[in-house]
Amino acid sequence: MRRALFFALGLVVIAAGYRDVGAIVQDKPLGYPNTPMLPDGKWRVHDGTRPQPVVVTPAPATEPPVAAPSDAIVLFDGKDLSKWVDAKGAAARWTVENGAFVVTPRTGDIHTTDQFGDMQLHIEFATPAAVSGDSQGRGNSGIFLMDRYEMQVLDSYRNPTYPDGQAGAVYGQMPPLVNASRPPGQWQTYDITFTAPRFKIGGGSEVVSPARVTILHNGVLVQNNTTLIGSTAHQQVGKYEPHPDAAPIRLQDHGNPVRFRNIWVRKL
Ligand code: MG
Repeated sequence: MRRALFFALGLVVIAAGYRDVGAIVQDKPLGYPNTPMLPDGKWRVHDGTRPQPVVVTPAPATEPPVAAPSDAIVLFDGKDLSKWVDAKGAAARWTVENGAFVVTPRTGDIHTTDQFGDMQLHIEFATPAAVSGDSQGRGNSGIFLMDRYEMQVLDSYRNPTYPDGQAGAVYGQMPPLVNASRPPGQWQTYDITFTAPRFKIGGGSEVVSPARVTILHNGVLVQNNTTLIGSTAHQQVGKYEPHPDAAPIRLQDHGNPVRFRNIWVRKL
């Protein structure tokens, strides 16, 4: 009897040692073992051994979505993609349907016709309800601020991947503080506050002050005034290259039919 009691107690202690990361059984490596080290000296780019962000269940999505404030520039009002073009400057070929638009795979990224630097950006996305693929192949898109700093969009609901590549990550640089993802098919929000980098006046590549970003994912803080180390990159340490004070916002065609709606921005 006493032995059974100790056994049960042992199980409880072991169970308490695990944190719920929403992970399913993982049978392949999550990241890359040979990528360069990040400047923090602790983790590699796309390090699969970096701690998985703890799962937080956010409040339910707001329906209908919250309206834009009076001084916002509305980039998509549910009707057309007139504020967006493809890489060649031609009309965006993603499909508008039911007040949203959806990535049309292999038509390429689209970007705003207007340019933005410091900004407050609200954007909503939904990864495909019918789950296909895994890790980076599942519900992948992205929001490139100033055409070069990717805030990752991914279906991170019970979908293990390297932490600096999951939803709410500054891609390849900083995982989200927590995993606040909603299930696939549901609408999710990003509220992003971005401060553009400043470069030395008169040219040169010297960064006077780096870019910074704060992100609320479904109302939950996932990036807290995070300093960017440069442009985001795949398997490489991002670095700064001088660019103008304003540039388009670009959305990624990563081959997955991710939907977007209710996009507005305020220049700061
Ligand atoms: Mg992406």
